[in-house]
Amino acid sequence: MKPAPFDYVRAESVHHAVRLLAENKDGARIIAGGQSLMTAMNFRMSSPALLVDIGELEHLRDITLTADARLRIGALTRHADLDASPDIAAHTPLLRKAIRHVAHTAIRNRGTFGGSLSHADPASELPACVMALDATIHIVGPDGDRVVPARHFFTGVHETALGAGEVLVAVELDVIKADEVSGFGEFARRQGDYAMVGLAAHGRIAAGLLTAVDLAFFAVGSTPILARRAAAALVDPATPDPAQRLQRAREALSLDLDPPDDPQSSAAMRMELARVLLGRVVGDMLARGAGA
Ligand SMILES: Cc1cc2nc3c(=O)[nH]c(=O)nc-3n(C[C@H](O)[C@H](O)[C@H](O)COP(=O)(O)OP(=O)(O)OC[C@H]3O[C@@H](n4cnc5c(N)ncnc54)[C@H](O)[C@@H]3O)c2cc1C
Repeated sequence: MKPAPFDYVRAESVHHAVRLLAENKDGARIIAGGQSLMTAMNFRMSSPALLVDIGELEHLRDITLTADARLRIGALTRHADLDASPDIAAHTPLLRKAIRHVAHTAIRNRGTFGGSLSHADPASELPACVMALDATIHIVGPDGDRVVPARHFFTGVHETALGAGEVLVAVELDVIKADEVSGFGEFARRQGDYAMVGLAAHGRIAAGLLTAVDLAFFAVGSTPILARRAAAALVDPATPDPAQRLQRAREALSLDLDPPDDPQSSAAMRMELARVLLGRVVGDMLARGAGA
């Protein structure tokens, strides 16, 4: 199919984009890489009257280390940029691990970090990563700038804390510290497909044991989900044996997750895959040790 007719404006600045959105309240949409929006328009699942193209705002396509040792990733940083960046590899290895699971090369060459987060597909890798890393989302809108913790950003299937006329401009996250470790895994039917179940994890390690960990599961609900009870079991000082901790964490997962049934996989299968992933990802984190 072809999209419904629409107007198109190339934004000259973020504030220009915000103004265009405000002037066309109901009918305007931002387009960044177009990898999700154009597909939805071609199927007429989305028919905006006006596309506001932010794709040429090159200053939003950057990765910088801030003075307070955080990494700032511009919204227009493409998936391929994340993959190629030495700063991403050195300072936030979780994104590096996750990015090659996102779609295929052609889509990674155009799709953007900000677009993926704004699109908020529950089976997407990057939303789970920013939750595991406790990142902050930087937004510009008609009422000025604001910052939303990633853990409060995703509110439902394709729904976020972005308000009318707001543009996601950047993500900030702490760089990995010497005693920290990240892990990532997913099950998908084919390499590059959206996940059936996935897990992004980030934690602290000492003497071969996790002392803190955040587990963000994806494709198990309408948003990425932090498995807090399983995480607590994995760092429980009363259980010194890592194998026992993992067993308790696996059991606790049924309290954290309530995956849906859908034509791709049953709820029971998703839960079992989540338990398997937990074992693999945590085993990998412990084997690699801190700093990886
Ligand atoms: C065949 C196929 C397979 C895919 N597989 C995967 C996969 O396995 N994992 C995965 O995570 N993704 C997958 N994707 C999606 C892909 O990663 C997209 O790049 C991403 O979801 C959207 O990025 P984009 O820049 O193309 O956004 P666009 O398509 O331009 O926009 C998507 C939505 O976000 C909004 N938006 C975009 N940028 C901003 C912004 N800065 N501020 C506010 N709103 C904004 C738009 O208005 C629109 O609603 C797949 C896509 C295709 C076509």
